[in-house]
This record gives sequence, structure tokens and C-alpha cells, in this order.
Amino acid sequence: MSVRVRYAPSPTGLQHIGGIRTALFNYFFAKSSGGKFILRVEDTDRERYSDESLDDLYQTLDWLGIKWDEGPVVGGPYGPYIQSERFDIYKKYAEQLVKEGKAYYCYCTPERLEKLREEQVKSKSEYQGYDRHCANLTDEERAEYERQGIKPVIRLKVPTEGKTTFHDVIMGDITRKNKDISPDPILLKSDGFPTYHLANVIDDHLMGITHIMRAQEWIPSGPLHVLLYQAFGWDVPTYCHLPMVMGKDGQKLSKRHGSTAVREFREKGYLPEAIINYVTLVGWSLDGSTEFLSKEQLEKCFKMENIHKNPGKFDYKKLDWFNSQYIRMADDERIASLMTPYLVNAGFVSNPPTEEENDKIRKLVKPAKERMKVISDIVELSRFLFVDEPVEDESMYVAKGSDLEKTKAALEDGGRILFSMLRKGKKDEEIEEALMKLSQDLEIKVNGVFQPIRVAITNSQVSLPLFDSISLLGLDEAERRLERALRMIKEK
Ligand code: GLU
Ligand code: ZN
Repeated sequence: MSVRVRYAPSPTGLQHIGGIRTALFNYFFAKSSGGKFILRVEDTDRERYSDESLDDLYQTLDWLGIKWDEGPVVGGPYGPYIQSERFDIYKKYAEQLVKEGKAYYCYCTPERLEKLREEQVKSKSEYQGYDRHCANLTDEERAEYERQGIKPVIRLKVPTEGKTTFHDVIMGDITRKNKDISPDPILLKSDGFPTYHLANVIDDHLMGITHIMRAQEWIPSGPLHVLLYQAFGWDVPTYCHLPMVMGKDGQKLSKRHGSTAVREFREKGYLPEAIINYVTLVGWSLDGSTEFLSKEQLEKCFKMENIHKNPGKFDYKKLDWFNSQYIRMADDERIASLMTPYLVNAGFVSNPPTEEENDKIRKLVKPAKERMKVISDIVELSRFLFVDEPVEDESMYVAKGSDLEKTKAALEDGGRILFSMLRKGKKDEEIEEALMKLSQDLEIKVNGVFQPIRVAITNSQVSLPLFDSISLLGLDEAERRLERALRMIKEK
């Protein structure tokens, strides 16, 4: 039987790292096993639904280059793939269960249910939940409710005895006593809307899903879903619940840890290949050591057996590292066009940039690749090229282990050495050596010389590599800034 897996998000918020990890695992498993990857939109919760979330889902998958074989937009033999377009199907199947005596109509009013809940809380009763009041209504009772115009819900009859087990590829057998499963959950609401459980099980069956790979937080729904499959007389797909995605502190990844929405990562200038590579390594590994894996490689080598049982940690620093590596590997033209919108937004270049500005951007690429963790870093890294805001706080010029006197000397002598050598066309290494020598004479660390020069020329402590900065700025302008800084410090 060929593999068919699905990513089944509910469009109730932006796609986040955990969701995308689920999508990637499903996608790579489908590809590597020659199967199909299906996208299904579980939008039965109309209150939490938003168009923006649905757009974000499509845009995010598109940005990552994750194409679905069947699903919204592209269609497929088991469509529609948007649950809100399938309500007739759910109703039909729920009514079928009623006919077969496996489910029943419940006419209880919200008031009755609320009272019941309060009583259970008050009496500290062991029994929680619906009291199965309508499980055995007589025909007359039912007719009476109908006559009153009460619209019923449909509830599943959960056995009171025995237990339900399902097997999970990663977690092993998971067993739950039937009496601990929520008593007779609603399958179809009174307005004809299905609940998540009903729609999810029906669709997985009708769409021929062979493996259910989803977050571990859905494990508690497992036994109920198995009961539903049994009620319908359908085969249960293979379950594979994915390890949780945690923050560094071992708590479930959330906004407290930083950005979680993929869109935010995209806006900051992470590359899709870095996200794909790193996120796939959260809770999965090829061999415990391989780090760099392209999407194309993962499409071949992803194995379900290699999914970890223990939670995976999402480390922002590690992602930054991956991203900076991928930035270095990326094509220069691509980096230039990725940097451009940030430079436009910062007001550094016109929109669209002029030919001359484009030239400048192109020249920026190589040095910027050395320093950017994310593409948006380009704004701070290149600010000195577009606006000249000298650093006035003299302490910023003074490196650790140096002092103001030595800093003045470093600027004065270092500047002289630097510019005279540059004008003579000396190599960077030779100049570096000469500046190093100066630092020894001044009895300070190398940075004691480089930092004041860097701050003077780039108006910042963090910037592009020094020699690149000077050549981008032009020798005369760089020298002017250095002299200005020196004057300023001397005056203080
Ligand atoms: N719609 C559910 C979600 O948002 C799907 C869970 C499942 O994959 O069964 O995660
Ligand atoms: Zn009832």
C-alpha cells in the first residue's frame, strides 16, 4: 500500500515552527517513500477561523517550497480538501452511526449541561462529563423534544467497560480504559457542524491516509479516534506522534522564547533552506551527526524510524548559525535582491533603487555575507554607508584593556599607518601586521587599535569587515571620518 500522509492544520493563527515541523516530517516521509503528501484544511472551528491564517498557510508552504500532491488549490481525487466544504459528508456518516445504534441524538440544553457540570464539581463526583441522559430515550421522548423544536447534537456511544489500545510507531502501545474516555463526546453539533474528532477521522479514512503523523499533544485524542474507526468498521491508520518542540528551558516552545511564527522568521530574513534544514533536525536526525541537509537530500533520506521519542529543543542560536551558513552559500545575486527591500525600508536607497544604488548593493554583498546572521542585519551593518552619524560617546572607542590615552594614540598612529599603506596599495595582511605591531608598542590588544578605527569609520562597534568598509566608503571619506573622530576625542 503506498504511503499517503497529510498535514491538517486549523487556520486559526499564523503557521508556527511546531506546525511547520509536522508539515516537513509528513512531506519528507511522503517523498522518501514514494507516497503522496496531502494538505487538508481543518476549518471546522468557524469562530477561531481567519482568512489571514489560511493565506498565511499557503504563503508559508509556498515560501518553503513545500508542494502538496493533493489539497486545496491543486485538487485531487478525494476532494474537497477544505473541511467546511464537506459538511454534508460528516452529517451523513454521523447519521449512519445513529442508525446503527453506535451514536445517538442528545437534546440536552446548554443550561442542563451547565447545571450538571456545577453539580459534579460541587459533589466532587468521580464521574465527570456528560451523564448519558439521552443515550436511551424512548421514541416518545425523542418525538417530544423534536416537537419542541430542539435541535439535537449527535454523540458517540463510548463503551463503559474494557479498554482501547492503539499502537504508535514511536511511543509503542498506548492503552486507555474506556471509562476514562470522555463520556459520549459530541460528533455533530446542533448546527450541523462536525467536531474535530468526527471530521478528522472521516477524512483520514476517505482520503486513504495510511500514516497519521501529528504532534504528541494529540495523543489523548487517539483512543477516541480508534473507537470511531471501530464504530465505522474502518481500518485504523498507523499512528506516529511527533516529539514536542521545546524551548531551551525545556518548556513547550512559545512566544516567551522568541518568534514562533514562520512569517516572522521570514520577515527577519531567514532563508527557507535554513528553516527547513534546522527545523527538520528538531526531533529527527539522519545519523546523529550530519548537520547540513538540503531539501532535496531530505526528500530522499528521511526515515520515520529516525524520529526521536524525546522532545526536541529549538535553539534560536543554532538556527542563526545555520542561517548565516546558508547566507554564505547563497548566490550573490539572490542575496542582493533579498537585501534590497530592507535597504529600501530603511530609507537608504530609493524604491526601486537607481542603477548606481544597485551597484552599491551589489558591492555590499560579499562583505555582508561574512557578517549577516539574518538578512535584516544588513540595515545596521551598512548604515554607515548611507547616513553619517558619528559616535560621540568616547567610551565606545575604547576597547577592553585599553584606555583613552592609548585609544587616541591608536587612532592617530593607526590612522596614519592605515591610510598611507592603503594609498601605497599595500595588501590587507601587511597593513594588519603593521597595526598589530602598533598594538604591541602601545601594549594593548589588537582590538585596542582596530576598535577605535572601526568605530570612527563605520560609526558602530559592529560592522562589515574593516577593509571592505573602507573600500565601500572610499579612502577620502574614510580618512575624513577618522580624523573627525580623533579631533572629537582630543577635544574632550
Ligand atoms: N487540525 C488539527 C491541528 O490543528 C489536526 C490534528 C491532526 O493532525 O490530527 O493540529
Ligand atoms: Zn442529552
